[in-house]
Amino acid sequence: MSEFNLIQHYFTRPAKNTDLGVGDDAALIQIQAGQQLAISADMLVAGTHFFENCPAFDIGWKSLAVNISDMAAMGATPKWATLAIALPQENEDWLSEFSHGFFACADEFNVSLIGGDTTRGPLNISVQIMGEVPIGQALQRNGAQANDEVWVSGTLGVAAFGLASLQNKLTSLTSEEKTECIRALQRPQARVALGLALRGIANSAIDISDGLVADLGHILKQSKVGATLYWEDIPKFKTQNTIDLDILQQATLAGGDDYELCFTASASAHDQLLEIGKQLNIPLTCIGFTHKEHGLHVLDSAQQALEIRNAGYDHFKEHA
Ligand code: ADP
Ligand code: MG
Repeated sequence: MSEFNLIQHYFTRPAKNTDLGVGDDAALIQIQAGQQLAISADMLVAGTHFFENCPAFDIGWKSLAVNISDMAAMGATPKWATLAIALPQENEDWLSEFSHGFFACADEFNVSLIGGDTTRGPLNISVQIMGEVPIGQALQRNGAQANDEVWVSGTLGVAAFGLASLQNKLTSLTSEEKTECIRALQRPQARVALGLALRGIANSAIDISDGLVADLGHILKQSKVGATLYWEDIPKFKTQNTIDLDILQQATLAGGDDYELCFTASASAHDQLLEIGKQLNIPLTCIGFTHKEHGLHVLDSAQQALEIRNAGYDHFKEHA
């Protein structure tokens, strides 16, 4: 199949909110009056972000979902995406599965693929996402105030357990738990509805892609505040068999790929946030508070600070 036919067959679908989509030298879109364009890009590299044998459908889904998650974290409505993909060889079964996964995610979140680039090379998938947010209402990392409450959505550490099971580093999960965790890793959801509901309420927000401690750390640094969290309050994955506490803490505090939102808000918004969680059917948990003194501490039930190792993934750090 020629490059042109391949793009036509696998990556061309009718695009919404778009004046000109796939097929020309550039796509054309219009931003609604009063909106800002929110733009973000995330790359998935074979061997680094997924195993070579990961189902192609899941790679397609995840490559878009992780980008949509960045829109959620900004309180933006995701609308358009571009896809730049390098393929080692032409494998139509793989491409078909990949594009089905990509478009399944696009349909779920109402995103249109409007352009991209297709080339031969080591498998690499680069997606750019664009969305809209009313001017001045985006949720930023630098808005946390001292004495905000710190919140997270969902359950943390699930994707990390999925990764550990795939690596055969975790053998105590039941087969149902293993399936659930691997699904969380390979088919993440993006908290778009929550991000939209947090506009005007949250003072800061981030999506948890690299682990709670690392990602909350970005909010704290940019907002020039510190935080204290309570281990007991952090929503953890519940397993039938006992899991080593150290492993549970590492997964929950430093495990990546959950794509839940972490945000801070004034304590006066507490009840309103519980109500939003109920309405959206998304667990929202208050896990601590921010303060003027810098630094991030996680206290156990005896008020002792936990030791946090490998606080999140850093691609450029030497790993032991
Ligand atoms: P050019 O050579 O002008 O850059 P290309 O041949 O790379 O054009 O692409 C042709 C059209 O197909 C463009 O509109 C481009 O945005 C689109 N396109 C290429 N690859 C993809 C892809 N993987 N997904 C979506 N659109 C794509
Ligand atoms: Mg091109």
